[in-house]
Amino acid sequence: MSKYNYDLFVVGAGSGGVRAARMSAGLGARVAVAEDRYMGGTCVNVGCIPKKLLLYASQFQDEFKDATGFGWTVKSEAFDWSKLITNKNREIKRLNSVYENLLESAGAHIYNGRAELTGPHTVSVDGKNFSTERILVAVGGWPHIPDVPGREYAITSNEAFFLNQLPKRVVLVGGGYIAVEFAGIFNGLGSNVTQIYRGPVFLRGFDDDARSFLAQEMLKKGVDLRFNMDVSAITKSSEELTVALSDGTSINCDAVMYATGRKPLTANLGLEACGVTLGKNGAIVVNDRYQTNIESIYAIGDVTDRINLTPVALAEGMSLAWDLFSADEKIVDYEYVPAAVFSQPNLGTVGYTETRAREKFGSVTIYKSTFTALKHTLSGNDEKTLMKLIVDDASDRVVGVHMVGPDAGETIQGVAIALKSGATKSNFDRTIGIHPTAAEELVTMRDPVT
Ligand code: NDP
Repeated sequence: MSKYNYDLFVVGAGSGGVRAARMSAGLGARVAVAEDRYMGGTCVNVGCIPKKLLLYASQFQDEFKDATGFGWTVKSEAFDWSKLITNKNREIKRLNSVYENLLESAGAHIYNGRAELTGPHTVSVDGKNFSTERILVAVGGWPHIPDVPGREYAITSNEAFFLNQLPKRVVLVGGGYIAVEFAGIFNGLGSNVTQIYRGPVFLRGFDDDARSFLAQEMLKKGVDLRFNMDVSAITKSSEELTVALSDGTSINCDAVMYATGRKPLTANLGLEACGVTLGKNGAIVVNDRYQTNIESIYAIGDVTDRINLTPVALAEGMSLAWDLFSADEKIVDYEYVPAAVFSQPNLGTVGYTETRAREKFGSVTIYKSTFTALKHTLSGNDEKTLMKLIVDDASDRVVGVHMVGPDAGETIQGVAIALKSGATKSNFDRTIGIHPTAAEELVTMRDPVT
């Protein structure tokens, strides 16, 4: 009989924590999970899921316009924000209970309360103490607004999902996933959108062609992109907010949303008192088996601030559970992790950017295609699609695929399997296309651009 109440105490019921808890309980471990906010964490409540629902809502405007070229007359385009938010909230509530049921049916004990680590083997939840052989910290991250005068008037993605009404004019600050995605969402829903980014082109770290191509497409859809620009202050009057910019100009608006990154939520968890080493931005430092410097304390997902994506946290949760409670070892492979920015149009990516591929492989060949999707020959929509392949000359292996276009996330998920399996350009060339699709372009690009 173990001297501890639990084999694993998970702090945080987000994507990674829930997966680790479920898997561990399924493997026979005695598991507890503490959560003081919402079941399912950021992804389910204020991230991936509600974002994608809002994205769907925002795409109808283009769909209505596109429909006319196909003979449809769309009579009413009235949009009801409150209805969207109510319906979205209902779905999220359903998912919260799905998560709760999954944990309970796996046999994990749920504690709804604020957990604090009181030692290497002890956790207290709202004053109730538990002993545990191991602790897993999976508390995720939280949006960060830099120290700009008037920052108290700005919202983050957390609040954007619950606004009482759709702001007519929105200023988005930042050039990462969230800012780009919300620029498209608000624009599609009919708001007047300005996006402010401090660098020359947004989405730093993504392939340069994809970045600039997406910027052009967003401009065409009416988003006012201001690059090489900073916010110097935000002020509020009775009617509106005013955003003063680094070039001396200003913008009046109804909402200012900051999406300038997220920080690990490690404050007031008792980590310092336990001696857990924290790194940059308060991220928990772990080894390749998710173990902190304190042997019995582990961490996965956004709180470790590495690849902050839900599927990565899920993979880490599973890997840790297998590691701790089974004879099997399932190491997470962080190479060729695909990703999509749910911008409009989507940006899907897997593997190396052209710049990074040149650095790593030296000699590479680039294939690139820009085209109008078949649908838009009748819709009259001037949206274009970009496909780009990067091939390592020495091995003929395709080491990067980047796409900007409708459903790029869906397309790139399949391509990621090929890249992960080591597909070469000649494998791509020998693959028969599916006609007529946009994706067939991936297997029909024959002439390199460089
Ligand atoms: P990101 O880290 O992606 O982007 C932050 C942006 O804010 C960058 O453009 C950055 O500029 C800018 N920035 C940072 N600090 C400042 C500052 N002081 N002043 C002005 N600009 C600043 O963060 P997000 O908030 O967009 O998203 C957080 C994370 O959530 C992402 O990294 C991603 O891992 C995850 N996510 C994933 C999604 C998906 O998979 N589709 C969707 C949404 C989020 P610079 O580049 O110059 O540093």
